[in-house]
Amino acid sequence: MKYLFGPVPSRRLGVSLGIDLVPYKTCNLNCVYCEVGTTTNLTRELSEYVPTSEVISELSSYLSTRPHLDFITFSGAGEPGLHVGLGRIINWLKTHYPEYRLALLTNGILMADDAFRQSVVEVDVVLPSLDAVSESVFQSINRPALGIHAEDYIRGLIEFRKLFKGEIWLEVFLVPGINDTVDELDKIYKVIRELAPDKVQLNTLDRPGTEDWVVPLSNESLLQIKHKWSELPIEIPSLGILHEVKATEKSKAEGRMLAMLSRRPCTESDIISSLGLSVKDVRWLISRLIASGKIIQEQQKRGVFYKAVNTKPVSDKPI
Ligand code: SF4
Repeated sequence: MKYLFGPVPSRRLGVSLGIDLVPYKTCNLNCVYCEVGTTTNLTRELSEYVPTSEVISELSSYLSTRPHLDFITFSGAGEPGLHVGLGRIINWLKTHYPEYRLALLTNGILMADDAFRQSVVEVDVVLPSLDAVSESVFQSINRPALGIHAEDYIRGLIEFRKLFKGEIWLEVFLVPGINDTVDELDKIYKVIRELAPDKVQLNTLDRPGTEDWVVPLSNESLLQIKHKWSELPIEIPSLGILHEVKATEKSKAEGRMLAMLSRRPCTESDIISSLGLSVKDVRWLISRLIASGKIIQEQQKRGVFYKAVNTKPVSDKPI
C-alpha cells in the first residue's frame, strides 16, 4: 500500500488505518516541537499531492474485506488538508463505507477557509491544534508559511464548531518559555471555552522535537494548568492515568501485576498487552514494585523480564 498505513493501535483512536495524502513534511507550519522533523516544503499551496483516484482505489481494495477498524484517519508526516482531494475522499468513504468512523488530524490552519470547513464536515472526529492565540507567540511556536495569521484560523475553528456535528478533540502543545506564560495561557483558555471541544489534550515534548532547545513542560506545571482549567475536559497523555487515580486503584493495578509476575516472568510488552495499561503506567508500576523489593528484573534472550520475588502465586487482590 502506497498511501495507506497500519492499521496501527492508537491510544486515542483504537485500531486506526492511516491515510497519508501529502509527501513527507509538506506542511503550512514548521512547529518548533514537530516530532517528524523540519518542514521541508513549507507551503500554503493546495494541490493534488498524490493521485486522489489511486488513494480511493487502495481504500476500495483494502476495505473490500470489511476489516475491523475503530477509525480511518487522515494523518501522516504533514498537513493532510493541503490535498485538494481530501473532501472527495471523505465523501467517497461516507458513501461506500458509512460504517467506518473517520478522523482528521490537522493543525487546523485551513479552517480559516469556508470551502475547507464544508469539505470536512462529514468526518466524525477532528483533532485540530491550538498552541497560541497571540500572533507573536503563534509565529514563534508554529512558524507558519507567509500570510498565515493566528486570528484567521482561530476564527475559522470557531465557525467550524458551529456547523460541525461530530467531535472536536483539541490538542494544545506546551513549550516552556514560549506559550506557558500566564497571559498566553489565559488567552488560550478563553478560546477553548468559546470553541467548546469535546476533549482537550495537553501535550508536551515526549520525543526529540525539531529544535533541540525545546524541552518538556514539567508534570507539576501540566497538572497546575489542568487544575486551573478544571471545568474543561482535559487529558494529559504524557502522565498516563495512574498518577491521578485513588490509592486503592493504584494498589489494585499493582496487585494485578504482581499476581501475573508471580505466575511467570514477563517482558514489559507482555505486561502492557495482558493488563491493558499504557506504557507509562506499566513503567511507573514496575519502578514502584522494584523499589519495594517485590519484583526483580532479569536479562534473558528475548529481552528484560520481570518476575516476582515471591514466586508462590498470589491473588490479584489489592496489595
Ligand atoms: S503542523 Fe504538525 S506536521 Fe506540521 S510542523 Fe506542526 S507538528 Fe509538524
